[in-house]
Amino acid sequence: PGHVVVVGASLAGLRACESARREGFTGKLTLVGAEEHLPYDRPPLSKAFLQDDPMPEVPRLPAASTLADALEVDLRLGRPATGLDVEGHRLLIGETEVSYDALLLATGASPRRLPGSEHLAGVHTLRTLEDACAVRAALKRGAKTVVVGAGFIGSEVASAARKRGLPVTIVEAQPTPLVRAVGYRAGEALASLHHRNDTDLRCDVGVEALQGSGSIESVRLTDGTELAADLVVVGIGAAPATGWLEGSSLTLDDGVVCDEQLRAGPEVYAAGDVARWLSPDFDVVLRLEHWTNAAEQAARAIRNLLDPGTATAYHHVPYFWSDWYGSRIQFAGLPLGEPVVVAGWWDTDAFTALYRHGDRLIGVLTLNRRADIMKYRGLIARQASWQDGLNLAASRNAVLTR
Ligand code: FAD
Repeated sequence: PGHVVVVGASLAGLRACESARREGFTGKLTLVGAEEHLPYDRPPLSKAFLQDDPMPEVPRLPAASTLADALEVDLRLGRPATGLDVEGHRLLIGETEVSYDALLLATGASPRRLPGSEHLAGVHTLRTLEDACAVRAALKRGAKTVVVGAGFIGSEVASAARKRGLPVTIVEAQPTPLVRAVGYRAGEALASLHHRNDTDLRCDVGVEALQGSGSIESVRLTDGTELAADLVVVGIGAAPATGWLEGSSLTLDDGVVCDEQLRAGPEVYAAGDVARWLSPDFDVVLRLEHWTNAAEQAARAIRNLLDPGTATAYHHVPYFWSDWYGSRIQFAGLPLGEPVVVAGWWDTDAFTALYRHGDRLIGVLTLNRRADIMKYRGLIARQASWQDGLNLAASRNAVLTR
């Protein structure tokens, strides 16, 4: 292609531009981004950025500063793409038309909001640098904090509040934190991490109303409880940013639907939180909201886009990490069935648990066992058997207890 356009200037968009040049693409490269900023790194926004003093610097993605010069990318920041004509190979940015030969969609996801929260000061979601600055400022002021949702982001906000010595309540509609991501038994172990750190975690209960005049004053729960609050952080998941693609001929179904090679339509590919693709490793359709996937998927998508004749399927074992109260949670694979602990024990400071699907090792969850996770991820990528997983556990435990 002569002109490649990438839409979405964050992790996946940046990795795509870097990879295009690394692959030897010398044509015109344009990066369109809704935010004013050069791409920055989101994971620190709910971790060090909230809890550390003095205020950390904006979390950098090092290659971002090379976009304009070394990578010779035409940057169009601060305005969102608003429409796409797939047949005509034209992208709309408001009134401006940009024609392309090949297009990569990397518009990520936007946080879900609670209805009725739009006009209340002190109610935030956490996705952007601006969101993180607002939440940080409220925590610095010693806010009485209610977090809605015990997912990654909600749990990390709660742990930042506790690090600052502030009382915090988490309201979670499911029976445990992260139940969909790790299953029920492991979710209970993560609940105990909250309890041991004096976070008031309330599960199986929803939010009935956010109350206040002008600013948030309290949260009413579906069980009738009322919680006083001057900061509410809503972490109830994100929706893929595809609204602007409605009416294009692309298939949209909780994301931009792609084939195994990440192709969404003629000369159109997708990567990162916005992309739903047919995973050849698990034979299911997946859409992930994890850092590692965004980085790796963008690199594969751009290679396939630059040379469709040699395109290959995107192989990937899902992987995420999250940091709660100084503890590192890591997960790889799929959370099928109920896991079995093979090192340490639930409700302690360190464990490794394995997930089984038929005869196959399908997932692994670790708490504070960083040396384990990638070894098991490698096994899952090779479609190893359950017995292979147990053998690895036995050999690693032998090393640890020797
Ligand atoms: P995004 O980062 O969402 O970027 C998409 C970009 O596209 C945005 O800048 C958006 O403004 C822009 N955009 C949207 N629509 C348009 C449009 N129409 N035109 C132009 N631009 C548009 N993952 C982990 O694995 N571990 C973690 O610990 C972890 N922590 C996280 C903490 C926070 C606070 C957040 C928000 C995410 C965290 N993640 C974590 C997830 C990880 O950051 C994401 O998976 C990753 O950012 C996805 O990258 P992306 O480029 O696909 O999408």
